[in-house]
Amino acid sequence: MEAIRIENVSKVFGGKVTALDGLDLEIGAGELFFLLGASGCGKTTLLRCIAGLETPTDGRIFFGDTDVTELAPHKREAAMVFQSYALWPHLTVGQNIAFGLEERKVPKPEIKKRVTEALEMVQLGGYGERSIDQMSGGQQQRVSLARALVVKPRCLLLDEPLSNLDAQLRVEMRREIRRIVKENGLTGIYVTHDQEEALAMADRMAVLSWGKIGQVGTPEEVYRTPLNSYVAGFIGETNLIQGAVMEMHEGYCFVKVNGTTLVGKVTSADWQSKVGDAATLSVRPEVWRLHKEGGENEIDGKVVARSYLGQRIEYFIETVIGRQQVVEMNPRVIHEIGDEITLHARHGDVVVFGN
Ligand code: ATP
Repeated sequence: MEAIRIENVSKVFGGKVTALDGLDLEIGAGELFFLLGASGCGKTTLLRCIAGLETPTDGRIFFGDTDVTELAPHKREAAMVFQSYALWPHLTVGQNIAFGLEERKVPKPEIKKRVTEALEMVQLGGYGERSIDQMSGGQQQRVSLARALVVKPRCLLLDEPLSNLDAQLRVEMRREIRRIVKENGLTGIYVTHDQEEALAMADRMAVLSWGKIGQVGTPEEVYRTPLNSYVAGFIGETNLIQGAVMEMHEGYCFVKVNGTTLVGKVTSADWQSKVGDAATLSVRPEVWRLHKEGGENEIDGKVVARSYLGQRIEYFIETVIGRQQVVEMNPRVIHEIGDEITLHARHGDVVVFGN
């Protein structure tokens, strides 16, 4: 188990592409930490710098108290699992797993024991003699996990490990990877595009934007109190509503939107706003309520589309502040297209930021 500290790390490719831009990050020992963000924001580059497969242009990387910035990959005790599995098709499952140990000149009986243990860990006990092409996609991903674990790493680095699997298997493997990280006391760093995967699995996550950190927090913190519209829009679905600052009061911002006033919580302490400044409100689809009694942030609207999804129903509702996506769980009343309804959202559930 190892804490990882990234200090002011930059990576510039070919003197002009800035993939990481003075990034600071601390990942706790034993944490399962996710890196998320739009394509090209630098997730894989950061993971590769931590693995030692890239050297930062600037900044330092520490594992515990050890500065590993210049250390070769195999000396870092970090193992990487790739989207492509990177298994050798001409070797058996056992030979694939043993490869890293043979390279390290581990004695044969020890290799045998550790390969057996690694196969047990990923619930593939007894599969050592099979050839790789007899294994399903999910099993191949387990083999690549076993190959990473067999070298007894202290950090497990995962780059989109589940993206080649079908939806059901992905959900199953989420639990499996989390179990493996926790049972083995590993620090796990996991890159994904899939925000649902991150919300379901992460202890904490960082949302990256253009090589910088947009926000770091637990899934709940990032989902419920995003610091800017990029993070709000990236993690989960949301209605982003543009307006102008009218007043700030005890951490709440009153925003004028097309003749109506909406109120929400300010999440970023850095936002120094003045009356008339542009403001963006973020209202999650499930934060809008549809009860007739009304409440805070009340807006009239008309149902223009709806999808019935079993235990929830999704509506699109046309209002003076724009078309709003609304999700109601376990609906008792189902509204029809054309129905006039009133939306409302609690001030404390709406967030406001300056960008
Ligand atoms: P994706 O989600 O699409 O995999 P990412 O967030 O992992 O993206 P990176 O692969 O880290 O992003 O790339 C960050 C930026 O650095 C991109 O602009 C990419 O084109 C550039 N980049 C990455 N590797 C190299 C390289 N070896 N040479 C030049 N540019 C690179």
